[in-house]
Amino acid sequence: MRPTVLVVTATTAQTLARRAAALDDASPVRGARDLFDLPPGLVYLDGNSLGAPPTAVRAALADAVEQQWGGHLVRAWNDDGWWELPLRVGDRIGAILGAAPGTTLAGDSTSINLYKAYLAAVALRPGRGVAVTDPGSFPTDLHVLGAAAEVAGLEVVTARPVDVPGVLAARSSEVALVALSHLDYRTGELHDLPALTAAAHESGALALWDLCHTAGVVPVDLDRHHVDLAVGCGYKYLGGGPGAPAYLYAAARHHDRLRNPLPGWNGHAEPFAMDTAYRPAPGVARMRTGTPPVLAMLALEAALTVYDHVAVEAARAASLTVTGLFAGVVDTLVPEVEVVTPRTDDRRAAQVALRHPEAYGIVRALAARGVVGDFRTPDVARFGFAPLYVTHADAVTAVLALRAVLDAGEHLSPAFPNRSPVT
Ligand SMILES: *Cc1c(COP(=O)(O)O)cnc(C)c1O
Repeated sequence: MRPTVLVVTATTAQTLARRAAALDDASPVRGARDLFDLPPGLVYLDGNSLGAPPTAVRAALADAVEQQWGGHLVRAWNDDGWWELPLRVGDRIGAILGAAPGTTLAGDSTSINLYKAYLAAVALRPGRGVAVTDPGSFPTDLHVLGAAAEVAGLEVVTARPVDVPGVLAARSSEVALVALSHLDYRTGELHDLPALTAAAHESGALALWDLCHTAGVVPVDLDRHHVDLAVGCGYKYLGGGPGAPAYLYAAARHHDRLRNPLPGWNGHAEPFAMDTAYRPAPGVARMRTGTPPVLAMLALEAALTVYDHVAVEAARAASLTVTGLFAGVVDTLVPEVEVVTPRTDDRRAAQVALRHPEAYGIVRALAARGVVGDFRTPDVARFGFAPLYVTHADAVTAVLALRAVLDAGEHLSPAFPNRSPVT
């Protein structure tokens, strides 16, 4: 017989349920779940990978297809404001990020925006040949930096964020760019954006932040912290849908000298002059390249209306109580897994990562019980607590399911021998 590590009594479960209910009642985002379409009964802890659809998206897409595209056809570029969508949606994202209007552009993917931002950044620091980044960055951030470095003749130096100030001190006048993710996608550790941005500036370098895992759940305050460039995707907490347009932010002070390494006709000062000589548009619009994916832009724009009803600060507060509850209950009820994510509020956002040698089986077995997280190789089970639709009650349900999975050995089931292409 498999030993049960800890018996969860009915009293324990009831006490936890009461605690969760009290936190849900007092939540600053109470009721926000009604803004989303979610299958009933599902505990969806993967909104940090693919956000759930906001209810507003469905009507916006129907309108886009039937009225705008179907009704107005090519006229819609003018009449429905399609041409300005990258800037209009960019401003809406900028408001969530603490960025002034005219500094954020929606479009392309995060990978493409990283390429543009890396090369634009180093072009602003001529004579400096080093880019510093975290070796634990999301792979695409590293792959694209490698390619950009080849084009720009840069040396890439890797250092964990805590060690970046040391690298800057040692190689101060050489560093053009510090490029980091606000949150470690694997461990869920939140990095100190204001301090690291200030450290980069003290050395004369620029700071570029990837906000994929914090936009919409942490007040980033890009302008206030003097961040130079930032990128992120639209399909995680922002809820824009699979493959939603990403975004690129550039501080207004850099606009005049900002060079787009993929200059296309959409970023031209006069796109319809059909000028064969490239002249960049004023402002962040010069970072545009080609025709935007209008349907996806309209879906993202509708998704962002969620933030007309909820402040990012409220989402932040709710994410801290829900992740704190989850991590604490895991500690007491599931001591055989390691909570990898830092406990202090200033080093955590909306994700909790657990380490276990059978993390993949655990994620699959939990999904079979209606608790959806994901797996990151080699041994991390990730749980995203998108605070607008994940409740404290969901967090307790998830821990009890985890306890049950381990007690019954469901994670060792031969039904989970092979990994699906997306884990
Ligand atoms: C999700 C994510 C990406 C995704 O990039 P795509 O170009 O959208 O595939 C990149 N970087 C980080 C840090 C991410 O979390």
